[in-house]
Amino acid sequence: MRIVRKIPLMQGLIKSEKKQGKSIGFVPTMGYFHQGHFSLMAKARKDCDIAVVSIFVNPIQFGAQEDCQRYPKDLVRDKNLAKKAGVDYLFVPQKEEMYPEGFAAYGEVKGYSETLCGLYRPGHFRGVVTVLLKLFNIVQPDKVYFGWKDVQQLIIIKKMAADLNIPLKVVGLPTIREKDGLALSSRNSYLSPEARKSATVLYQALKRMKNLVNSGIIEAKKVLTEGKKIINSEPSVKLQYLAAVQAEDLTPVKKIKPGTLIAGAVFVDGTRLIDNLII
Ligand code: AMP
Repeated sequence: MRIVRKIPLMQGLIKSEKKQGKSIGFVPTMGYFHQGHFSLMAKARKDCDIAVVSIFVNPIQFGAQEDCQRYPKDLVRDKNLAKKAGVDYLFVPQKEEMYPEGFAAYGEVKGYSETLCGLYRPGHFRGVVTVLLKLFNIVQPDKVYFGWKDVQQLIIIKKMAADLNIPLKVVGLPTIREKDGLALSSRNSYLSPEARKSATVLYQALKRMKNLVNSGIIEAKKVLTEGKKIINSEPSVKLQYLAAVQAEDLTPVKKIKPGTLIAGAVFVDGTRLIDNLII
């Protein structure tokens, strides 16, 4: 595995791989790897000739009060794990090269970015779209791999690729969970043992909501009220939002049906966690 820090070098290496007819699979990440990341890497490894993984904690997708500065990092550990996962290139750009002085071009997917997480993190998806456009232009992947855990990101990137005719395939893969259902996240490392225990309440609420729908209760309002009750029963957990939306375009639904996305965000001891289920 080769570690690449400079953008022109990464572009040069990709160019020579492509000249040899190699297909490129790409997994963009913010590092501090866990099984969720490895499932994406394994798929890229299996599908494509060359597997590229990036680690970049993208400052422009974090709000002023958010955790950009303290986002967990362990490059030595990540390097070893990426190597074991069969990654060919680990791309670790520096923020000064990604956003040099005078940087002024941003990407947006209107309508999809102002709902769910975007409502509470203004500018977040503009930052995500911008960095991914940059990374796609650098890595020129044939396929890119995203987790369903960050479902809004996945749907936005699919829409961006379709609307802007970006010649790549966006692949979404299932959320990897702990035994008790908690979705794996680098941010779980912030949780104290007590907070870790209460953090499963979001998944429990989503599961209960799914069961309600399967038992015939399909009014979104009723189902959401039940989900909120479960989350609010855990005193150390603060609900940010719980919503039922159409998976295609993230618009709210009144009646839940197969294909509806139920998604939420909570704060556990100050740590923001998200999760979702598809009915
Ligand atoms: P991150 O490093 O958190 O930005 O995540 C990088 C990629 O890994 C994104 O496509 C995420 O959706 C995906 N990912 C993060 N957590 C999980 C998980 N628990 N299961 C599957 N994919 C995940």
